[in-house]
Amino acid sequence: MLKLHNITKSYGEVKALKELSIELNEGEIFVLLGPTGAGKTTTLKITAGLLKPDYGKVYFNGIDVTEVPPAFRDVAFVFENYNLIPIYNVYDNIAFALRSRITRVDDTEIDRRVNAYSRDLHINHLLDRRTNTLSGGEIQRVALARALVRQASLNLFDEPLSNLDLKLREELRVEFKELHKKYQSTIFYVTHDHDSAVSIADRIGIINEGVLYQIDTPDNLIKDPDNVIVAILINSPAINIIDCFLEGKTLFLKQNTPVYELTGAEMDKIERQTREKELQIGIKPRSIGIGKRKENLNFSAKILHIEYQGYNKVINVDLLGINIRILTNEKVARGYGDLLDINFPKKEVFIFNKKDGRRVRY
Ligand code: ATP
Repeated sequence: MLKLHNITKSYGEVKALKELSIELNEGEIFVLLGPTGAGKTTTLKITAGLLKPDYGKVYFNGIDVTEVPPAFRDVAFVFENYNLIPIYNVYDNIAFALRSRITRVDDTEIDRRVNAYSRDLHINHLLDRRTNTLSGGEIQRVALARALVRQASLNLFDEPLSNLDLKLREELRVEFKELHKKYQSTIFYVTHDHDSAVSIADRIGIINEGVLYQIDTPDNLIKDPDNVIVAILINSPAINIIDCFLEGKTLFLKQNTPVYELTGAEMDKIERQTREKELQIGIKPRSIGIGKRKENLNFSAKILHIEYQGYNKVINVDLLGINIRILTNEKVARGYGDLLDINFPKKEVFIFNKKDGRRVRY
């Protein structure tokens, strides 16, 4: 329904987007996930028509809209600062876009929609209040209602839940999914918040420094990242990334610390993909086992810190000067400064090419 094709955009010297291509399907929630400065807002502004790309095209349902102004694109958006009008009450803020000369919705329909959406977002008791008297969470709901009430073909959301505390954010995420189920709109949502992305997205695109790395479902990105950047951004708690190098058939962590003897078949595959000897391994905190396991990669590491998280704990250990996080619910009868045996299951270890971050598969 939306197609961004080879979008490139610079602000002076800063290349904000580099040949970015994305296609959104009708009715899906697509999340663009990336750190601050990745190019997320720029992507949404180009989609809305608030910015023009230097190169590339924007298509809605197969029609080139690159030169079409925002008001004629059938797009609703919520930006981080919400842009509510403080001297208007909640009702008039929600109704605002429906009253424009371009949308031409009649008063009865405006009233029906404002009431329906404000009920769904639990703000119907606030309709007479001015928006400058509302709490952060209420403002966010008004901003969502004001966008959804337009029933546009495409909704663009820029970090709409970012200013909320954790509990409210979790609540709104659930409501957001329910509203989406009810109204079946297409949603293009950008955020740096991993948890929001994974919990609401049908598909996620991972973006960093203007480059789109991979698009897939949350599960597939977690299971099968193409690149170290994807592995870092999609995993929470953060994946452990450890520098290593290949000498002969052996993967070393640091000089003289062999980790892994590769089989001939594994070597063949690696050599077909890269001639680089500098590699990185990635292992998720929850994949690391406690104790020794003959079939796995075994290490002994010093405990630095244990953080309790309900039934689980995150154990920070020092492995040859590298800080590694382990997420476990096993009992550990050891404390700060003690040595702990840990193991990495081989099939849970990702190998990346250090130079370009690409995954080496075998
Ligand atoms: P955040 O999560 O912090 O909002 P973002 O991923 O939305 O970040 P963008 O706002 O799209 O990132 O910015 C991408 C890059 O372009 C950044 O390096 C930013 O500093 C730069 N940039 C954005 N707008 C402008 C502008 N008007 N003038 C100059 N540089 C800009």
